[in-house]
Amino acid sequence: MRIAVASGKGGTGKTTVSTGLALSLAGENGTGMRAHSQNRYRLLFIDCDVEAPNAHLFLNPDFQVRIETGPSVPQVDGDACTYCGRCAEVCEFNAIAVVEEQVLTFPHLCHGCGSCTLNCPEGAITEVPRAVGLLEAGPTPYGLYFTRGIMNVGEAMAVPIIRELKKWDIGPGREETQDGAGSTIWENVIIDVPPGTTCPVVEALQGADFALLVAEPTPFGLHDLRLMVEVVSAMNIPAGVVLNRDGTGYEDLERFCEDADLPLMLRIPLDRRIAEGLARREPLTTIYPEYLDRMREMYESMVKMVGRDLR
Ligand code: SF4
Ligand code: SF4
Repeated sequence: MRIAVASGKGGTGKTTVSTGLALSLAGENGTGMRAHSQNRYRLLFIDCDVEAPNAHLFLNPDFQVRIETGPSVPQVDGDACTYCGRCAEVCEFNAIAVVEEQVLTFPHLCHGCGSCTLNCPEGAITEVPRAVGLLEAGPTPYGLYFTRGIMNVGEAMAVPIIRELKKWDIGPGREETQDGAGSTIWENVIIDVPPGTTCPVVEALQGADFALLVAEPTPFGLHDLRLMVEVVSAMNIPAGVVLNRDGTGYEDLERFCEDADLPLMLRIPLDRRIAEGLARREPLTTIYPEYLDRMREMYESMVKMVGRDLR
């Protein structure tokens, strides 16, 4: 089961929910206290918030693997090129231009889609890798495996990093396949989605079985939740809402959930003790261990809603 934890804006509590859910499924409260053991190392956490990843602060992974990542960008062979301009015509991102007898490339704009290479009639383009970020992976002390991406300073494109991160076939869940290449099969995957509703969010949500939308009961929170609901609806991903900082007295958000037939999966109160614990890098399940059961129950509801077998 692939569960994406998303929110329309940053600072809503997305990482509080994703890390709490991960620890709950791993049977851990973040202090070494084990509730059960059946999911040890069969749970993968992917931090796709590549511009500001922070789930590691709560899950304490031991990063044992690091690789550079990025799109393949075009390199033009001036001897083979006839300056026909076809590459510039097919590039949707203005990352390549033909000016008289010169082909100019703009690697920072290139998405690595490969259209220019495919459409060059002279075979004058080769693709060369360009690192725009890092992928990191390793076990945590809590019986789950952790991966994340980090975008290099000054880079603008998160999508290629998220795409590579999500298909990174790594970890102790790896099993040999018939062709000997191996494949990593996880029982559960939790994806911490970047904030907002732009391309990186769509890339992180691709393939999710369920989207947990974290929202706070304020007019701004309702505005962002509406946008997020439009995104997951367009992607046909079943969704439910976690109401964070509940207790502000603003009721329009709950009314919206009722009208939109969006199940309210969990409430987390506006509580100073939670804020102080998070500031000390304590996960929600350490601050209030009862969230171990509440998160697990929420997981069971999600499994029922998508019609999967419970693991
Ligand atoms: S499509 Fe190929 S031949 Fe035409 S301008 Fe681009 S690189 Fe040169
Ligand atoms: S790979 Fe795609 S985005 Fe990059 S220059 Fe070629 S067509 Fe444009």
